[in-house]
Amino acid sequence: MDEAMKARLARTLHEQRSTLAGVVRARLHAAGPDAAVGLANCYAEDDAAQADLLGEHDLAMLHQECRQLEAVELALARLADGSYGRCVHCGQPVSPARLQAQPSAALCLECQQDSERRYQVRPL
Ligand SMILES: [Zn+2]
Repeated sequence: MDEAMKARLARTLHEQRSTLAGVVRARLHAAGPDAAVGLANCYAEDDAAQADLLGEHDLAMLHQECRQLEAVELALARLADGSYGRCVHCGQPVSPARLQAQPSAALCLECQQDSERRYQVRPL
């Protein structure tokens, strides 16, 4: 991956981070101060309590947005430490086309498909 492409993807990741952070903040704000406290940790164990505060649909959206935000944060961290563009699992380069479609991709296509088969995890 050349430096120009890396710079472009970095810009996209920064934009995605501020967009997602804004979306999460707005959702928490709309839910009110009590909910914001209860949801401060997106990955809190107590899903039932969170659902009471937000409603099932909003909670599902929030979880999705938090996961995306986390993926973007991790990609930015990899950019900073120089490991960006390599699969975090096998260390092989992630294809440029894949990174362009999804700059926060942490896995190469092969590992992604493998993990989906194994854990039935939806890609971010
Ligand atoms: Zn891989």
